[in-house]
Amino acid sequence: MPVAFDEKDLARFPFLQEAQAKIAGSQLNQLETFLTSDVGNRIIQRATDRIETAITIPPQGLFDHFRLSNADSTSPLESLYTYGMARIIASCLNDRSAIERLISYEARRSSFFLMNDESDETAEAEAEKRKAVAAQLGLFLDEGTVSVPAYIEMVAGLREPLWRLVNRDVHGGLVRVYPTEVEVLLRERIRVVIRGRGLPRVPPEICALLAPSIEHLTAVLQSQMLRDLGPIDESRYPPCMNALIAALLEGKNLTHMGRFALTAFLHTIGLSTTQIVEVYQRSPDFDIEKTLYQVEHISGRSGTEYTPPSCATMLTNGICVGRDGFCERIGSPLGYYRKKKVKAGSSDRQ
Ligand code: SF4
Repeated sequence: MPVAFDEKDLARFPFLQEAQAKIAGSQLNQLETFLTSDVGNRIIQRATDRIETAITIPPQGLFDHFRLSNADSTSPLESLYTYGMARIIASCLNDRSAIERLISYEARRSSFFLMNDESDETAEAEAEKRKAVAAQLGLFLDEGTVSVPAYIEMVAGLREPLWRLVNRDVHGGLVRVYPTEVEVLLRERIRVVIRGRGLPRVPPEICALLAPSIEHLTAVLQSQMLRDLGPIDESRYPPCMNALIAALLEGKNLTHMGRFALTAFLHTIGLSTTQIVEVYQRSPDFDIEKTLYQVEHISGRSGTEYTPPSCATMLTNGICVGRDGFCERIGSPLGYYRKKKVKAGSSDRQ
């Protein structure tokens, strides 16, 4: 007999076809009216909180968060709309790391509820529901196997050697999976499905109505990135940035792109306006007013916060200088700094 999903199930597994149909037929379709209603405001707030949680709580802390939120009194329908609204806000925010964190959050949330159902249902009914949800994800848990292409797609983000295909039991194009691995595989499959669906295209006038949420989340993202990067460490600067600083010290004039790249880099890793101005102060032709104006502009005073250019742009502009081994697998000076800090952190712990 086919499993019937109730509203609580749809709120927990919002990627299900039934949940998508419910969202499609809801008030979220008349967004302009909905966003200015009381319930709309409540759901915007909840969706903003959901994205903030996704950005700020590390994966290992999410289990407790879901356990506690399982007991909150939000109606299942509002919870489902919150999922839809979070996707709308994420689309307006248009930040790759925020979107990835939201996808990861949703995948962990649904797999948590799938594997830790505290409803009144019997164990048998729970198992049937789990199978029905998994089947919608293209996973057939009865057989204990997954096709090789589906398996490869699911484990793409898993780093442990255990998940590598060469370490698996593979027969006839099927990979054997064990009951203890189901939760991880379901989570990864949900991630693939949610990512594959992409985000809704939201008209600019709707994003404008969501501006307070977008501004708040932009500030959350910025401070989270600074926390992730940790204290400033000059010894991890990439060669191109060291070259720009050295040029300043030698009294050379930096090109417009050189100034832009250095300022955006220093701002993004957490230097204050004053600290950045102090870097330029080392230059013999230092002009405090001009420097202050440029630094504040690049750091976001104009309303746009600039991020450092990619290595490709640096190369095109002739300021990718002194490449070393760390440059091989990164795409930007910021990536270089982050990678070197992570590496230093792991060798410090050894
Ligand atoms: S490859 Fe990138 S990080 Fe390395 S020196 Fe060039 S621009 Fe800088």
